[in-house]
Amino acid sequence: MNEAFVSAITPPTPLTKPAYWFIFNGRNLLVHVTEKQATVPQLHTPAELELTVIREQYMGYCTDPENGFHTMIADVATTETAVPPDMAFLDLRRLFGTMDDKMVWLAGRAVQLAEWNRTSQFCGHCGVPTVVQTHERAKKCPQCNRTIYPRLSPAIIVLIEKVNEDGPNELLLARSHRHPPGRYSVLAGFVQPGETLETAVAREIMEEV
Ligand SMILES: [Zn+2]
Repeated sequence: MNEAFVSAITPPTPLTKPAYWFIFNGRNLLVHVTEKQATVPQLHTPAELELTVIREQYMGYCTDPENGFHTMIADVATTETAVPPDMAFLDLRRLFGTMDDKMVWLAGRAVQLAEWNRTSQFCGHCGVPTVVQTHERAKKCPQCNRTIYPRLSPAIIVLIEKVNEDGPNELLLARSHRHPPGRYSVLAGFVQPGETLETAVAREIMEEV
């Protein structure tokens, strides 16, 4: 699936059939919900759901010859909470296990691009409105020429196992104060400027243990 998805800022061919629309209210995604599963709506336009979009962008397309599709990303105003009865805006974490894996993967991509589109409306240096570029996914400040790309934050996550000769093996887990009692996680953290992935792993273990 990942190989068959092509990221693009404009559709290579006109959108003649409904596209998958990843519509966000903040970081929550609009999905059709049934008792067992959630699905991303396929639409010509969000107006079909009587939603008013305040930002939209093309995300890319799937090249599968039989099941190819286009994908769009949109934001509605945070005050826009009225949705059809079988739909809801849900946090992406709640969609794991209830939504098709490829759609979860695309939703993870979409939420990051929606966040970039939302937070790069103005230059962080000058405060003037930015201009969307047409040759790459970027925005430019017309005053200071700063280019704003979608932000990537490299991170590491590691499972550390202690092998015991005369007993069961043990896993090293951490508990965050944000987690409910009894929930533990493997060690994870963001890579700092100048670090390799390996030194980030070593630092996170030192910091968290
Ligand atoms: Zn600027």
